Amino acid sequence: MGKNPKCPKCGAENTVPISYGFPVLDMIESYHKGEIELGGCCVTNDSPCWYCKDCKNRWGKHSEYMDRKRQELLGRFEKHKEE
Ligand SMILES: [Zn+2]
Repeated sequence: MGKNPKCPKCGAENTVPISYGFPVLDMIESYHKGEIELGGCCVTNDSPCWYCKDCKNRWGKHSEYMDRKRQELLGRFEKHKEE
């Protein structure tokens, strides 16, 4: 999980993404393994997307996180078109 950003508050790398929505079994398992934090069912564009397990800080914007994911997918799609 080396790609998670460091906590902007304490600099710890002990950070996990926050998952939203009704927790399904997969999510609960990941949560107990300490791989994600559960954010609850309600998500807005301003909801935080990262959680620091060291200082309990939450930061980032869910909308930016989703944008990044969308860009990743788009990038993959564009590459496909060029081939
Ligand atoms: Zn922290």
